[in-house]
Amino acid sequence: MRVQTGVSFLFALVLACQAKKDYSGYQVLTTGKLSPVQVDALRNLQTSDERFDFWKEAHPDGAADVMSSADHLTALKEFLTKHNIDYSVKIQDVGEAIQISEKPSPTKKSNPNARYNLNWDEYGSHDDFNEFIEEIASQNSWASVRSIGKSVEGRDMKVLELTKGGSGAPNIFIEAGIHAREWIAPAVATYTVKELVENYDSHPEYLDNFNFYVLPCANPDGYEYSRSTDRLWRKNRGLNDGALCKGVDLNRNWEFHWAESGVSDSPCSDVFCGYTPTSEIESQNIKAFYSTLSPVPELTVCFHSAANLWLYPYGYAYDSYPDNVDEIRRLGEDAVDALNAVNGQSFECINSAELYPAAGASDDYYASLGSRFVYTPELRDNGFGFVLPPEYIIPSGEEVWAAWKVMLDKIMPNKE
Ligand SMILES: [Zn+2]
Repeated sequence: MRVQTGVSFLFALVLACQAKKDYSGYQVLTTGKLSPVQVDALRNLQTSDERFDFWKEAHPDGAADVMSSADHLTALKEFLTKHNIDYSVKIQDVGEAIQISEKPSPTKKSNPNARYNLNWDEYGSHDDFNEFIEEIASQNSWASVRSIGKSVEGRDMKVLELTKGGSGAPNIFIEAGIHAREWIAPAVATYTVKELVENYDSHPEYLDNFNFYVLPCANPDGYEYSRSTDRLWRKNRGLNDGALCKGVDLNRNWEFHWAESGVSDSPCSDVFCGYTPTSEIESQNIKAFYSTLSPVPELTVCFHSAANLWLYPYGYAYDSYPDNVDEIRRLGEDAVDALNAVNGQSFECINSAELYPAAGASDDYYASLGSRFVYTPELRDNGFGFVLPPEYIIPSGEEVWAAWKVMLDKIMPNKE
């Protein structure tokens, strides 16, 4: 009897270890419009209190979204009330929202002739992304896949190179998925590849005049962990020496003004910037690859979610911009106008620091190297935040494609 109990206990323990993190009872609260004083209070909370998870950062005249477990909800509400911050419930039960978001899209069509597993009716795995780009490379003489190194858990980080434009043509770099839980980001990056390559005949000028380098999943370990174990995991899966908590926020780990703002030095925080700049193998791999691109990419786009924003650098401090900020802002605004016209979304183009000063992000680093146009789209929210149901992948891909056309037409060689 005792042995049986022991075995049952062990079995339950193994099951518990394998189970996905349960977000039943977690809620996301959204605030009213915030004053600068209220913004400061919320930012202090974000970097000092690990009970609360910010889905949308506090910024003046904007709203913040904050998730809490049922256990800490009262404390969060007391904090908001104490600072005279209005709030309402955005997501009543995060566990239920995750379940909804994991159902296959109702529009899902099976395609027996598909050459790859990836489809944009559901969210793919890291293996699906790599298979997709390998297939694109195998079908086109001007496409190839380059391994840029392995993640900390040994996953292959692969970049798709579309070099039909040829030597000296403007380079374009696309980075997606550096935050694990922002699943729409790799989905839209790969949708962009599909549109560029498989719909080439509709717009040959893009592949003919540019070279594209696409890293669909910049944080493969975190992404797979968010699929298998904790849907809302954000960081990589690096071991932090001497700490119980795993993971560094890869988008706080880059060496340009590293750790100056918007980060935590606690390894358990979601915005832990690492012990040193570029400490993480994933950042190191991307940095080494990016430095090989010559000329420096004319355009660099880093896909994130979920705030309906189109951000431009710098993000490390207020009132700090690249020299050509006027043309960056103009092109970003034009891209957003085209994006919004497709499905009636209401994206805004703003400076990253206006959203939230945060140092050590990859977009700041790329801009500091001289990439002329650098943007960080925070893709659509639709009231779901990070757990966007898959039927929104294709509409997101379509509206972002409209933004791509504006940007590519503008920077097309010999057209300026
Ligand atoms: Zn992000």
